[in-house]
Amino acid sequence: MIQRRDYRDIPLWKGVDAAQWNDWRWQSAHRVTTVDELSQVINLEEEERRVIEASLNSLRMAITPYYASLMDPDDATCPIRMRAVPKILETEVAPEDMLDPLHEDVDSPVPGLTHRYPDRVLLLVTDRCAMYCRHCTRRRMAGETDRPRSQEQIDDMLAYVRATRGVRDVLLSGGDPLTLSTPRLEYVVAKLREIPHVEIIRYGTSTPVVLPQRMTDELLDMSKKYQPIWINTHFNHPKELTVESKQALAKLADAGFVLGNQSVLLKGVNDCPYVIKELVQRLVENRVRPYYLYQCDLSRGISHFRTSIARGIEIIEHLRGHTSGFAVPPYIVDLPGGGGKTPVNPHYIVSRNDHTVVFRNYEGVIAKYVEPTDGGFGGCPPNCHICEERKARGLDPELGVASLLSGGVDSLVPANLARHARGKRAARPSAAGGAEEHDGG
Ligand code: SF4
Repeated sequence: MIQRRDYRDIPLWKGVDAAQWNDWRWQSAHRVTTVDELSQVINLEEEERRVIEASLNSLRMAITPYYASLMDPDDATCPIRMRAVPKILETEVAPEDMLDPLHEDVDSPVPGLTHRYPDRVLLLVTDRCAMYCRHCTRRRMAGETDRPRSQEQIDDMLAYVRATRGVRDVLLSGGDPLTLSTPRLEYVVAKLREIPHVEIIRYGTSTPVVLPQRMTDELLDMSKKYQPIWINTHFNHPKELTVESKQALAKLADAGFVLGNQSVLLKGVNDCPYVIKELVQRLVENRVRPYYLYQCDLSRGISHFRTSIARGIEIIEHLRGHTSGFAVPPYIVDLPGGGGKTPVNPHYIVSRNDHTVVFRNYEGVIAKYVEPTDGGFGGCPPNCHICEERKARGLDPELGVASLLSGGVDSLVPANLARHARGKRAARPSAAGGAEEHDGG
């Protein structure tokens, strides 16, 4: 690993003064978008130049000067370079690859809005990102126009949220919502705040990583008016925690925003217990809670980044118990087909019977926990009416596996089972007036 370079030593930005460099608008306007520009920042062989050109069709390249200045000019495996510089592998499509593996466009009642979980929605308010990550799961749309969505589309999304009383949590993402101008972002946030059932707003943003200059007083003063706002950022590697990004995080934390981080497990970038441990400890030191460690999705053109799930479990094994609990992110597989975020853990229960559960801990200690003989549920306290009040307000519809436990339903059955179709055929009246014969095959 080389020492970080002074940007003025990089030919492309020789004459740039500090005021320009520290201005997020200057950074955005001067993103590295061509191979010629890139070759003034890092050393590229002729073959590499050709490969980058060939890969640009799958996802546009746009690297902020700040982030580009962190790249190792000679090492193609530098984690900063891996996140920012295209590879020919992106043009390869693996058999399991999908355009929209998470069904964000399928579970979308209004263009740009995904409503999958009961009480929260995702608003893709722009397809523009400060920088395009090569592992992006939204490659199908990120950077397509490099612009915000139209006012009309934004208003349609807001109208949906307004009309859908069960939505209490709205995630602004994209693209990256902090690429919007502050007044444009305020339009969305202010309208959301006028909706009584919207309790929290979230920004999902990579700007603290790739464009920390975006954390202006103007942005923070505006956002503070609409608290509670939670901010999730996207650091993947400890090398991304620079002086500038730490200052950006400190500004956000001092302004009172709750900070989380979503990392993606990426082969050759961070798929190592020690790299992830260093990352999560540095995040916590900077007042950022590691919120999720994602398994890389089955999006098209990123199979070269995927690790095995076994590797993810191994990494969690190295974290849980070995470092602060709040530094250990849930390891999440976002299930294809809109199955949603599903946590995966090492196994800690070794065995069990009716009254005893045997555990192992991170050190390999094996111990038993004896369960209460009376079943351990004392019933509702006589003066507690929280469940009744929530049910009366329609906040907790009986859904999913939890509904089996609460006794609301006896079974959950997929809607399209072949035997259902056979049953319908069997019930249909025959020409002779009776039921069709069913051979049970
Ligand atoms: S910032 Fe997010 S949406 Fe944009 S390219 Fe990176 S991963 Fe994709």
